[in-house]
Amino acid sequence: MSTGNHEEFDVVVVGGGPGGSTLATLVAMRGHRVLILEKESFPRYQIGESLLPSTVHGICHLTGADEELAKAGFTVKRGGSFRWGVKPEPWTFSFSISQKTAGSTSYAYQVERMKFDKILLDNARRKGVEVREQCTVTGVVEDGGAVRGVTHADAAGNERQVLARYVVDASGNTSRLYKQVGGTREYSEFFRSLALFGYFEGGKRLPAPNSGNILSAAFGSGWFWYIPLSDTLTSVGAVVRREDAEKVQGDPETALMKLIDECPLIKDYLSNATRVTTGEYGKLRVRKDYSYNNTRFWKPGMVLIGDAACFVDPVFSSGVHLATYSALLAARSINSVLAGTVAEEAAFTEFETRYRREYSVFYEFLMSFYDMHVDESSYFWSAKKVTKSTHDELESFVELVAGISSAEFDLRDAESAALRLKKRSAEFADAVDELVRDNERSMTPLFKSSVVSQAMQQGSQEQTRALLGGDAGADAPIFTGGLVPSEDGLLWTAPQGD
Ligand code: FAD
Repeated sequence: MSTGNHEEFDVVVVGGGPGGSTLATLVAMRGHRVLILEKESFPRYQIGESLLPSTVHGICHLTGADEELAKAGFTVKRGGSFRWGVKPEPWTFSFSISQKTAGSTSYAYQVERMKFDKILLDNARRKGVEVREQCTVTGVVEDGGAVRGVTHADAAGNERQVLARYVVDASGNTSRLYKQVGGTREYSEFFRSLALFGYFEGGKRLPAPNSGNILSAAFGSGWFWYIPLSDTLTSVGAVVRREDAEKVQGDPETALMKLIDECPLIKDYLSNATRVTTGEYGKLRVRKDYSYNNTRFWKPGMVLIGDAACFVDPVFSSGVHLATYSALLAARSINSVLAGTVAEEAAFTEFETRYRREYSVFYEFLMSFYDMHVDESSYFWSAKKVTKSTHDELESFVELVAGISSAEFDLRDAESAALRLKKRSAEFADAVDELVRDNERSMTPLFKSSVVSQAMQQGSQEQTRALLGGDAGADAPIFTGGLVPSEDGLLWTAPQGD
């Protein structure tokens, strides 16, 4: 709505990446007026190409983007293959090992972000979101301690103002707007790396059925990702520890080739490949992937989601998952406040508590994963006891690296899927108990963590709800006085019986 020289919306979202487009869609689905201001013109380049099942089958199912994704022809990612830890040979995990991702949802995609992000943004438009590209947000409008809008330069360079009940900062890792919520951005001492990456044509593929897997290979200075984006195009990146930062200085072509020489597996996979040297994929790029989180995620009238709020090391491809999951949590908070059913403080405390817990799960998990002195079985076999999950060890590992909230359900077949789940769960538990008796292992600190255990249970429930709606069953709050998601997943409500 335009009044005088400014406009008014219910919500203004800064940035049209996966976080921004997901949040905008989930708020527009409740009938609110939502505007996305995006500084680029899509398609635009972004790194972060390996997705998790929780994003593809959970959140994108909720927004309705999953059907377009299925039509796009992205590489199917059935799991991950790692040359990691003490073992010299690569080892592989498959999403299908988890009862919650077995069957029709036992995969994610490797995506060209130029295509993926545009599909999500176009889906937001179809759901009623107004999207304006080439609009750069320059600041926020405050009134009485609360944020009430933004200023921006439109496509023609004119300064504009838009007022709103909520401003969402989804402007990614380059965000400067986040400072407006107060607090500070705290950088991790543990994860401080630099990534140098580019694209190759004609690289080798893992043998079927794992040819679409992400391949991660540790080497002396760090690790490589090797992501098959199509039958012939591969995204290749070296993540180098801070102590070895000089290895990514100077001419990037020479630096990347030297790093490839240091890693025999990647060198072999690229032995007949040629680097792409034209177009968006022709550039070699360097990114600091330092991990950080802001000490505040919201203030009255404003909330941070995705990379604007926090980021954790990319080895388990959690970035888009955290961006879209935080979008879901924040959308519930905004929808509930706009509906007048939950007070702002309670709604955003719920958002922040759940978001920080999800971030902590990946953070803690990744710290233990960087212990190179163990083999993969240490991660697998200790999972059941330490997560106190009702599921088995290997499943617990896979659920975590699938975005935690993974599930097998398919709405088109929800009832039989639920029955299948029960049956498979019982069979699998028996089989694993037997294996565990034969393979007693020492537990890693990760799985002793209660935050991991709690979040895994909650994450499963989120995913189940996305696919089953009300049939997902009742939730328990995650803290005393906390809220639970509504049946349709778009609001917070009081737990049953309160
Ligand atoms: P973004 O995708 O960055 O989107 C933000 C949008 O905001 C952009 O379109 C930008 O143009 C816009 N914007 C910025 N400023 C303004 C402004 N002032 N006004 C208007 N618009 C603005 N994640 C994975 O899931 N899988 C991976 O394999 C993976 N690999 C990674 C490898 C590396 C080396 C790094 C550094 C990250 C990786 N990530 C990965 C993380 C992933 O890139 C991010 O977590 C993800 O893109 C975050 O999404 P977002 O929506 O928060 O932000």
